[in-house]
Amino acid sequence: MSRVLIISDIHANLAALETVLNDAEGQYDALWCLGDLVGYGPRPNECIELVRERAELCVMGNHDWAVLDKPGVNVEDFNPQARHAVLWTREQLSEENRRYLEQLPCTPVHPPKTSEILVTHASPREPVWEYILTPSIALENFAAFDDLLCLVGHTHKPAIYRWRFFESLVEGEDDHEMQGMATVDYLQLPAQMAVHLELSPMQRLIVNPGSVGQPRDNDPRAAYAILDLETMTLIHYRVSYPIELTQSQMREARLPKRLIDRLSFGW
Ligand code: ZN
Repeated sequence: MSRVLIISDIHANLAALETVLNDAEGQYDALWCLGDLVGYGPRPNECIELVRERAELCVMGNHDWAVLDKPGVNVEDFNPQARHAVLWTREQLSEENRRYLEQLPCTPVHPPKTSEILVTHASPREPVWEYILTPSIALENFAAFDDLLCLVGHTHKPAIYRWRFFESLVEGEDDHEMQGMATVDYLQLPAQMAVHLELSPMQRLIVNPGSVGQPRDNDPRAAYAILDLETMTLIHYRVSYPIELTQSQMREARLPKRLIDRLSFGW
């Protein structure tokens, strides 16, 4: 009883979320959601309700935050299409679903019954807003937490950032001395293949499962991952969902064409 379904960046794409939940059915014991339940897509209430019902843990994403109209958010900072979707979503949300979003943590959390795992939407040091898109940004973030594994979403791109610590003998002033050095490399997350995480104080990871509702790695299929906490093995999945259904719901809601079109291409 240790398999966790990890989903992120659903963005009110109900067809994608339902497809992922069906596809993963029977393969997990707990569900963790890394935030951005709403924004962009046509079915915010339904997506929040599914996550509310099933998730053991969920954190606050930047779109969730923007929809709540929190102080410190300027909706003008979003691009025009995203802003349109934020304002549209505000009008749609039921009071109960709004309250659910309100109580989502906007700081990194440790899942129940686990050790050495941290969960956050964007990054450990900027939990709601920062994009981890390069090894150098990842390296700075590894300094901001102690756990062996951190799960993030936000970029909509599946990825593993691997931090490794080396010690080597270097020439000192009058003797040799041991010096430590940390490096980070980017690894692709292969689909449908078990990856053993091999975590240790010398090897820590930041893992991004990709996006359920708006993938941006040129693959339009919904992305998710299943983590086995006993073996520390991760499998990343891609699954086709009825994109046209989401697109017709978006047209009905008069959401921007650019947001509708991009789902076909995965960017
Ligand atoms: Zn997002």
